[in-house]
Amino acid sequence: MHTETLDLLSPAPGQRLALTVHRFGTAGRGPKAYIQAALHADEVPALLVAQKLKPRLEALEAAGRLRGEVVLVPYANPIGLGQSLLGHHEGRFALDDGVNFNRFVPDLTEAVARAVEGRLGDDGAANQRLVRAALAEAAAALTAHEPAVDLKRRLLQLAIDADIVLDLHCDSEAVMHLYALTPQAPQAVELGALLGAEAVLLATESGDSPFDEACSTPWLKLAERVAPHPLPLGCFATTVELRGQADTAHALAEADADALVAFLARQGLVDTAATPLPAPRCAPTPLAGSEPLKAPHAGVVLFHATPGQRIEAGQCVAEVVCPDTGRVSPVHASTAGVLYARVATRWATPGARLGKVAGATPIRTGKLLSP
Ligand SMILES: [Zn+2]
Repeated sequence: MHTETLDLLSPAPGQRLALTVHRFGTAGRGPKAYIQAALHADEVPALLVAQKLKPRLEALEAAGRLRGEVVLVPYANPIGLGQSLLGHHEGRFALDDGVNFNRFVPDLTEAVARAVEGRLGDDGAANQRLVRAALAEAAAALTAHEPAVDLKRRLLQLAIDADIVLDLHCDSEAVMHLYALTPQAPQAVELGALLGAEAVLLATESGDSPFDEACSTPWLKLAERVAPHPLPLGCFATTVELRGQADTAHALAEADADALVAFLARQGLVDTAATPLPAPRCAPTPLAGSEPLKAPHAGVVLFHATPGQRIEAGQCVAEVVCPDTGRVSPVHASTAGVLYARVATRWATPGARLGKVAGATPIRTGKLLSP
């Protein structure tokens, strides 16, 4: 293992921000995997899983069983880790401008399209190498003047030429679930089966450029643009939601780390007999079919369903009780599917998203992710 420290743009004189980066295996000798933990800094189960991954990857490296390179960033958001405000840890939004740390990651499609114009041929693998190099060059050319923008730039530079990107997050109260690109459903289903995911949510573009899609969608968009030149998708990137924020346990994190290593092995990064694939616990569903259940007014929230529970269309999932009038409003699901996440707070503001049901039929368009 080789560990390096990357200094980030300092927020003020006398203050230092830095990323720790662990590298395992040999760059350029095989596929590359990039794994980062807790880009939303308050999603701490991811930090624990990264700690469990480290000794596993060290052991594989020592045994000479890593075929390529694995890059592990054990905490992806040092800015967010330090954002304590009046007893509350705010790790999702940058306190200085309110921007989500996992949105508006630079989309390099245009820069790469210009760089490879007229240079692609009939060999898909050669085209893939050219595009991968152009992506790395475009990422290297990014500039930043604010710490949060600099953070996104540095993380993207570490990830952009990877074959596999695992962005480890969690939800408020949730079962294991993940997000990936629709054309990469087979890999998403495989990873989901290994992790025991109870929802696998697919989209070709979910809006506002989250980190995983900044790594994967350029390939999708470029493949369309450069046709008829062949360009196989060069990166499987996924957001893995490691249950809920309170789900920190050694046993869970160890099982998750084992599952991630098994996925890397099945993807050709580890020289080992492939782990047999467990039966998937869910079929993939479109992210556009995920129904956000909203509070009709402010009030106290009572849930009538727990994460992982199968919900029928029309079922009452929660109630909201107004402390002024005493009014009790049921919150019904309009779609059938698994309640894969719900909020941890029991106070609702008007219109607040209380939970999410993974339905099989698209019911939404536009921006598909939570704010
Ligand atoms: Zn997150």
